[in-house]
Amino acid sequence: MKCTRCRAPAEVNLRQHNSGFCRSCFVFYFQRQVERAIEKERMFHQDEAVLVAVSGGKDSLALWDVLVTEGFPTIGFHLALGIGEYSARSRARTEQFAAARGLDLHVHALADEGLAVSDVASATRRPACSACGTIKRHYFDAAALELGCDVIATGHNLDDEAARLLGNVLHWQTEYLARQRPVMQPRHEKFVRKVKPLYLTSELETATYAFMRGIDYVVEECPNAAGATQLVYKDVLDKLENVSPGTKVGFVRDFLARGSSAFAEREGDSAAQSCAGCGMPSFGALCSFCSLRAEVERKLRPREAATRRSESPQ
Ligand code: AMP
Ligand code: ZN
Repeated sequence: MKCTRCRAPAEVNLRQHNSGFCRSCFVFYFQRQVERAIEKERMFHQDEAVLVAVSGGKDSLALWDVLVTEGFPTIGFHLALGIGEYSARSRARTEQFAAARGLDLHVHALADEGLAVSDVASATRRPACSACGTIKRHYFDAAALELGCDVIATGHNLDDEAARLLGNVLHWQTEYLARQRPVMQPRHEKFVRKVKPLYLTSELETATYAFMRGIDYVVEECPNAAGATQLVYKDVLDKLENVSPGTKVGFVRDFLARGSSAFAEREGDSAAQSCAGCGMPSFGALCSFCSLRAEVERKLRPREAATRRSESPQ
C-alpha cells in the first residue's frame, strides 16, 4: 500500500478512512484531524489557556503533544491516584514527558490527603471506578479554576466514546445520552468548558501517533478496569469494526449529528449552591466529592472526624 498523501510506502493502514500513510504524513494527518475537531466543534481558540488532564497514557500524552505542537497555551494536570505501582508509573511517565519538553505540569497526589483511590474504594465499598470518577471531576474543575484555565481537555478517544455510547444506548440512559458530547459548556461560573479533541481518533491511531513521536507512555490498563463492562463493549465494537470498518466513527459521528438532539438536557440541572466543604458548585450542601471525603473520614478516621466536628462552629 502507498501513502495516500505522498505515494511513499505506507506504514499505517487506516481501513475506516480507506487510506494509508507513511510516517511523516501520518503525523501530519493526525495533527490535522485533532486541529479540525477543535475548530469545527469550537472547542477553544489559540488565546485560551487549556488545562490538559494527563494520565500518563497514550491518549492524553498524544493530545498534549499535538496541542503544544500547534502552539496552544497549555498547562498539564496530573492526578496521582494512589493505585499502587500503576499510579507510580503513570506519574513518572507524565513527569518525564513534561520535563523533556520543558512543559508546565501540576501534580496533585491524592495519597497526601489520605484519599488514595484504593483506600477510598475499600473504606466506602463503592466501586473504585465510580469513586475515582467523582474524585477526578472535582480535581480537574478545581485545578482549572485555581490555575485560571478557560477549558479542560481530556484524552477520551473514539473507542472510549463509542463504548460509552453503546452502554448508554443499551440501558437507555437518556440523561447521559443528552450529555455525551465532545464539548460540554459550563453550567456554573466556577466551572469551565470541557472538551475531548480526540473523540474521532481511534485508540489505534493515538497509539500509532504516540509511537511515531517517541512518546513513552504507560501501556498497562488501570488494574481496577479489569473486567469492567466498558472493556466488553470495546471488544464487541472491535469485532464489528473488523467486519465493517468505519462502524465506530459512524456510530459516534451520526449519533451527534442525528441522534443526540432527541435527548435534550433537562432544564434546571445547574448546580445552584456552593459546597460547604470546598466552595465548588454543588447540588446540595456538600458536593459529591466532599460527601465522599466525609464518608472516608467517618470510616477510616472516626475519632479525628468526631474531634473536628465538635471543634467546628455549628
Ligand atoms: P480514563 O478515565 O482513564 O479513560 O481517562 C480519560 C481521560 O481522563 C484521559 O485521557 C485523561 O485526559 C484524563 N485522566 C485520566 N486519569 C487521569 C489522571 N490520573 N490525571 C489526569 N488526567 C487523567
Ligand atoms: Zn465540595
